[in-house]
Amino acid sequence: MSIHYQKPNYKCVKCEAFFLPFKKGIKCPNCGFIVKDTDSEEYLDVIDKIVSSMKVHKEIHGTYFPEVWLTAGYMDYMQSFIYRIFDQMEKDKPEDERKYFLDLLESMDWSNQEYSKKHVKEITTEVYKIYKTKNFLI
Ligand SMILES: [Zn+2]
Repeated sequence: MSIHYQKPNYKCVKCEAFFLPFKKGIKCPNCGFIVKDTDSEEYLDVIDKIVSSMKVHKEIHGTYFPEVWLTAGYMDYMQSFIYRIFDQMEKDKPEDERKYFLDLLESMDWSNQEYSKKHVKEITTEVYKIYKTKNFLI
């Protein structure tokens, strides 16, 4: 069982890159175009949604990445990275977790999606802040 929080794919109005404008005033990770507040409104809970799906998956499966995961949109694509990173991190137990996940993302093959690397790093960092400051699994 997996929890899918769907979000419509957001495309930069200028360069058409897909990303999740999860905070107000965010810039397109590809071209730097500033997203309008009315556009980002629907995405402001993205980080919370990712965190809550992680908790549910962990409780049911013992891992963040569920047994079956279909990637139907950019939100699913993003979550699949986040789940795998946190699973891998808990397995490897690195001393410097932040450096660990940034290095891990850096080493992945992004082919022509360089901007996505930057964006996934940014979202992983936001999720990590919650992961560290709250009693994450309660
Ligand atoms: Zn753009």
